[in-house]
Amino acid sequence: MIKITDIVKDYTAGDSVVHALKGISLTFRENEFVSILGPSGCGKTTLLNVLGGLDRYTSGEIEINGKSTKLFRDKDWDAYRNHYIGFIFQSYNLIPHLSVLENVEIALTIAGLDRKTKREKAKEALNRVGLGEQLNKKPNQLSGGQMQRVAIARAIVNNPKIILADEPTGALDSKTSKQIMELLKEIAGDHLIIMVTHNAELAKKYSTRIIKLLDGEVKSDSNPFIIEEKQDKAQNQEVADEEQKIEENNVKIDEKTQKKPKKDKKISLQ
Ligand code: ADP
Ligand code: MG
Repeated sequence: MIKITDIVKDYTAGDSVVHALKGISLTFRENEFVSILGPSGCGKTTLLNVLGGLDRYTSGEIEINGKSTKLFRDKDWDAYRNHYIGFIFQSYNLIPHLSVLENVEIALTIAGLDRKTKREKAKEALNRVGLGEQLNKKPNQLSGGQMQRVAIARAIVNNPKIILADEPTGALDSKTSKQIMELLKEIAGDHLIIMVTHNAELAKKYSTRIIKLLDGEVKSDSNPFIIEEKQDKAQNQEVADEEQKIEENNVKIDEKTQKKPKKDKKISLQ
């Protein structure tokens, strides 16, 4: 569903150029828990930022659901970030003067939701991370682990496909880190999680795939996802055939009952 090919990222500062990513190619599954390991400065954060559309790459290709992002303009990247991606940071990045509930609500970018629905969705996300009882607290009344749970609720509230986490347990003690990893593992059941971590032990215990970076390159990948182009096309054809069959069936049913096919009702979220 997300595939990057030969991604290069250079940072230019004055006369000097830093080659942060030197041609990275990876394909990610729809649901998996990927840990990215590697020494400081090897390009982990740069890779996450490029994947999340926070930072442009110098060359290479990113495909989302088989579609190239080559022609993406700023507004397409905005939409991608808002609807496809949830971010979790080491430092939580909560807004201090807002309550737990408001911190999650404010991240809801789904168009056309009324206040009540927003509140419900935010509560639902907070229930999922075990904070359903702390809705009115302010971030400074919470422990580090609880603050990271709020940040996780905020990351999942728009129901994004991909969660990007940059050292989410970097500021937590080991017991709390494990609890956060358990939660992320559970969330990876219906999301793609790509997590940067320094903690090889936690990565091994909780994630389903470990990618090691070194000096801007992939050094190893414990569980690569390789689809042959042909196989990919065959799968697409299968889906198309299946859709055609369903379509034909519907027409038959309609002929039998002598009813015209119903048009989809217009859905209003208001
Ligand atoms: P990591 O997250 O693995 O510690 P980063 O992705 O932050 O590594 O950085 C990779 C390299 O790119 C480092 O050499 C870093 O100094 C450099 N770098 C990162 N961000 C910038 C920037 N905005 N400008 C210039 N160089 C940068
Ligand atoms: Mg980093």
